Amino acid sequence: MTTAKVGRYYRLTPERRGVGVELDARHNWSLPGVSCEVCGETWAATGLDYPTVDLSTFPGLRALSAGGVVSTKEYAHLSEQLAKVLRGRPHLPGTELGPLIGVGGGTPAGFVWMNPWTLLIEERTMAVLRNQRLKLPDAVPAVLRELNGRLFEFEVLPQGEVQMAPRGKRCSECGRTPLRLIGRPAIRRQSLGEHADIFRIRNFSTLLIGTECFVSCIMALSIRCCGVTPVDVC
Ligand SMILES: [Zn+2]
Repeated sequence: MTTAKVGRYYRLTPERRGVGVELDARHNWSLPGVSCEVCGETWAATGLDYPTVDLSTFPGLRALSAGGVVSTKEYAHLSEQLAKVLRGRPHLPGTELGPLIGVGGGTPAGFVWMNPWTLLIEERTMAVLRNQRLKLPDAVPAVLRELNGRLFEFEVLPQGEVQMAPRGKRCSECGRTPLRLIGRPAIRRQSLGEHADIFRIRNFSTLLIGTECFVSCIMALSIRCCGVTPVDVC
């Protein structure tokens, strides 16, 4: 790792997959994908996960447990109901909710990545990070049978946008807009509001970002399993 520079942002990626830790888990609920009669696309977004959300008393729970694909009308109804529970968190078809539940294997240390957009942290490491001067998101324990240890998942909220170019028109029915990245990801400064020291990019939700404070801390503490790459801000 190189030295983190003040004021910079860094892309966070799996450096080594959990060093001997295996995970087979999924979030407790997810919004279905949507099939649109207007644009003809069937789609769901990836990377919008809110593990702290508890939907156990949500009236539309069946539709969120079944997965699958629904019509744009059914999705709109579900989305409206859910908006009250999510309190301003952006959501799309495919958004995952509730804690991770499943099976684990091995003894975790430092960070563990379930995939490149789902970052988990071992319990003692999280306690160490919480003692630093960092603004960290809320976290909940993942429910992982057979794991020799405890992992927590941060609720990494969407914040800031990267420059993207449209590849077609926005669909008036389902809201899908085909986009492509322009070169390397660069965060638009104006899109950045107040944010935690880890966040995900709103229009590229599989992209996890850490501030220089966060990256400096994990370097100083030699916390394992997180690759960092500087990201431009424009
Ligand atoms: Zn559409």
